[in-house]
This record gives sequence, structure tokens and C-alpha cells, in this order.
Amino acid sequence: MAPAEQEMARPEGTGKVSFKTGGAFLRELRAEVEEHLAVGHVRVRGSIALYAKAPVAFGVTALSWAALMFLRPGLIGTAFCIAGLAVGATLIAFCVMHDANHGAYFKRRGNNHLVGWTSDLMLGFSSYAWRVKHNVAHHTYTNVDGYDADIEQAPFARLAPAQPARPWYRFQHLYIWPLYSLMAIRWQLLGDVQSFRQGSIGKSALRFPSGWPGVGLVVGKVFFVCWAIVIPLLVYPWWAVAATYLGISMLTSVVMATTFQLAHCVEEASFTSAADLEDDASVWAVHQVETTVDFCPRNKLLTWGLGGLNFQIEHHLFPRLPHTLYPVIAPIVKRNCARHGVRYTTQPSLWVALRSHFRHLRELGRAGLRAELEMG
Ligand SMILES: [Zn+2]
Repeated sequence: MAPAEQEMARPEGTGKVSFKTGGAFLRELRAEVEEHLAVGHVRVRGSIALYAKAPVAFGVTALSWAALMFLRPGLIGTAFCIAGLAVGATLIAFCVMHDANHGAYFKRRGNNHLVGWTSDLMLGFSSYAWRVKHNVAHHTYTNVDGYDADIEQAPFARLAPAQPARPWYRFQHLYIWPLYSLMAIRWQLLGDVQSFRQGSIGKSALRFPSGWPGVGLVVGKVFFVCWAIVIPLLVYPWWAVAATYLGISMLTSVVMATTFQLAHCVEEASFTSAADLEDDASVWAVHQVETTVDFCPRNKLLTWGLGGLNFQIEHHLFPRLPHTLYPVIAPIVKRNCARHGVRYTTQPSLWVALRSHFRHLRELGRAGLRAELEMG
């Protein structure tokens, strides 16, 4: 078994729920993907395409910020700069920090963490906590109630069938959208602090890091507050800074939350609980595919902008590959799923994906309520 596979199957700080590792499906799939990437310069081209996105992401952000601070453009210019900051933040999140924090950017772990630190510097949330929340809690225990922090939204929403019903959830398909817009603000202001105080995310342990990672965490927060809030306050009135910060943060949050939800919280995705897994442990790779859905695979602009996260099945199976290679390996993954009887779902359009998420929320919001409530 490959070391990466072992790490994903039994991550640090857990041990209550485990998956069956390996199996013919993952073995054959990995061999076929490796063989394909070894031909010509496929892997190198993927890495170059990944690196080429970083200057775009940082360039858009830096130019927009500098124009706002030093040129003080008129109304239309300001609107363009604010849009530039929102696009820049989304690109940094999806196309730089996500890959780096998964270890897809470079071979050396330290170099990946250094690039992943852009999360602290530019997005305002700790890359250290993100790696526990995202790489361990979400990627290992996708859609497992109590373990995957991404589906824990009580008392605001019910995202998995194993979670208890509440009367107000019957409206969650309507009120969830403004809640998504608060995701980044919540992480910037409260999420990191709460998680470190609590000492865990989901069932995954989280301790405040010592040494350089700890210094990086504090320096990152200070740097973000300086460029996003303190310096703008020296140039603009407080209400203009507050409105811009809120607007950009809310916009990027909706894009990020929706992208992740369309991949996992839809009618076609499986959900499970720790109790179910104990009774019938799944093969980890099969669990990843069946809890995840691809969408809009033909839309190249969307694929570029979302950092390949419309190919989340491929991302969950090969998180350490540059995201630019997901469309390349998707036909191989699909073929192996068909051969091994693993359910592989692709939503043909953004509309179909959004509708499925909406219906999933509506059905879960209504299910389990008393009959008179369910009848409306
Ligand atoms: Zn990921």
C-alpha cells in the first residue's frame, strides 16, 4: 500500500472510524493513471499550467489593491478594482492555496506549506487549521456525519440524513444562501480561534503549532489585517472599508461554499454515519467516489476558474496531483469506476447541479418532521 493511502485511511488524531484500504479498484486505477501521466510530458505540462495561474491570481489582487490605495479611482474604476479583489481571492483559494496545502504544488512538504501560507496572508484564515479541517476531516471522512466538518452546520442547517430534524430546517433551501455568504468572515474572525480553543475539528485533533508554523500563523493574521483593513482605513472612511470588506468576503464565500456543496451535498451523493461504517466498513476509494459528484466537465472556463473543483471525484482520489490534470485523468477514473461497479456521477450543467443541491436541502429539511409539518 502506498504511504499516501495509509495516511488517508488512518489519519492522525482519530482511530474510531476506519475504511478498508487498497482493493483492486484503487490499485488498477492508480497504475493506469501513473502510466498515462508518464507518457510524454503530461505531468510536466500539468505542473506548468498550475504554476502559470499563480501570477494571474496574485497579479489581479495586487493591481486591484494598489489602484484602490494609490490612485483612488472613480466609481466605475473602484467597482472594477473591488471585482478584481474578489476574483483574485477566489483564484488564490482555488488555484494556489488549495493545491499547495494538499501537497500538489511541489515535491517537498515544506515548500508546499510555504505556498499554502498564502491562505493566512491573502485570505485571512490559517493554512495549518485548514489542512486539518480540509485534508483530514473532510477528505478522509467525506460526508460522514460527526467527522466531516463541512457537513456540520447545526443548528442552522441539516446537510446529512443522520443529523436530527428541526422545524426551521424546512426552510433551509431558502435561507442557506445568505448563510453561505458568511463562511469566510466566520473563518477569519472566529473559526480558527474556536477550533484551536476546542482542540479539534470534527473528530480530528488540532493543537496550536509550535515553532515556525506558530509564528507563521500569527504573522499571517497580522499581515492580512494590515493590508485588508488597517491600510485601507488610512485612505478611506471606515464605512467604505467595512462595506468593501463585507462585499468581497460575502461574494467569494458564496462561490466557495457553493462549489464544495455542489460536489457533496446533492441528491446523487451518498452519506453515512460512524455507526454505519462500523457495521459495514467501505473501501476508502469507493466511498470517495460515491460521496462526490463532478459537474460541468466540458466548461473549460469554469474548470480554470474553480481550480478543477468541478472534477472533485478526481480531486478526492488524487489530491496530490495538480488540479490542471483532473480533466486529463477523468476518462480513466470513469472507465475504472464502470469496470468495478462504482457509481460515478457527473452533472451535465451548473443548473442541474444547483437544482440537485436545492432539492437535497429541501428534502432533508422536510424529512423526519411531524406529519402535519411535513405536509406543509
Ligand atoms: Zn481538497
